[in-house]
Amino acid sequence: MIPVSLNALIFIYLALMLGLIFSAWLVSTWSRRSRKRQAFRHLIRCSMCAFEFEDAAQTPLAVCPRCAALNERRRASQL
Ligand SMILES: [Zn+2]
Repeated sequence: MIPVSLNALIFIYLALMLGLIFSAWLVSTWSRRSRKRQAFRHLIRCSMCAFEFEDAAQTPLAVCPRCAALNERRRASQL
């Protein structure tokens, strides 16, 4: 058996719990970002009338259903 002082045991316990909480936070943040990216993957905001619409087509330019302007596709982080 390895002799461990009470202070070292408390420190190890706290370090493990903080590591567990930090890991859960990282997984939660990654999962939330992934779901957000999936949800807004096809969302486009028109540059002319600011109308937001979804367009799942693979064309480089999307046509706004309100004003018929051509819009470039952008990543969700740029919206
Ligand atoms: Zn428009």
